[in-house]
Amino acid sequence: MKSLRAENLKKYYGAGNNLVKALDGISFSVDAGEFVAVVGTSGSGKSTLLHMLGGLDTLTEGKVWIEHQDISQLSKDELTIFRRRKIGFVFQSFNLLPLQNVYENIVLPIQLDGQKVDEEYIQLILETLGLADKKFEMPNNLSGGQQQRVAIARALAAKPAIILADEPTGNLDSKTALDVLGLLKFTSKKWHQTIVMITHNDDFAQLADRIIRLEDGKLLGDD
Ligand code: ADP
Ligand code: ADP
Repeated sequence: MKSLRAENLKKYYGAGNNLVKALDGISFSVDAGEFVAVVGTSGSGKSTLLHMLGGLDTLTEGKVWIEHQDISQLSKDELTIFRRRKIGFVFQSFNLLPLQNVYENIVLPIQLDGQKVDEEYIQLILETLGLADKKFEMPNNLSGGQQQRVAIARALAAKPAIILADEPTGNLDSKTALDVLGLLKFTSKKWHQTIVMITHNDDFAQLADRIIRLEDGKLLGDD
């Protein structure tokens, strides 16, 4: 089943001499359960692509379908709810709530959506990410790498159909990074989750099912 489809995505910033074609006609689709790595040099359009796939910004041209829903057809409020139901985001800014502990941060999106928390799965995530003993800590008492892992746990906790991750291993040592990638791979196969992950690390990209290469806003390769 196709879980994600991008058709002729274009995103231009600025105008005239300052026109930047951050995305310049990108099309691809991803099956449910597929784990895709997006690679490319800095400025090639990776972050912009991820934002567009998540409906976080408007396109200059093109369409994104998530599970057969053309997201441009949703109102702003519908899109907010759709995103919360379907997509888990892992971005470089962690956006953890400072007055909530680790566990509360992780389960909040599930509670907001009125779903039941799968405590066993939360525990598995916490253990795999080396956070089991941090469950009741406040975010400010954690290191950057630990906060990053909490953000990953939060994105996974609701078992979203799609996980969009921007350098999820950026702040992590290589052992922890491999644990995180292993967890992503496990979870994608176990729940048929689709993962699109930006990475600068070629070794990490090799662990994905597929690699999409961007250059100057264009798809350079897809293998
Ligand atoms: P990457 O994630 O691969 O580093 P980005 O998607 O961040 O690439 O950026 C692609 C291009 O678009 C770059 O030239 C960047 O400077 C430009 N860009 C990204 N966001 C904006 C923005 N909000 N306004 C203007 N230019 C932007
Ligand atoms: P990354 O390290 O993931 O490539 P960036 O540092 O390129 O992220 O971008 C961080 C944020 O700044 C993004 O939301 C992007 O849209 C915005 N941005 C990137 N380049 C520009 C730019 N030239 N002008 C304005 N905003 C930009």
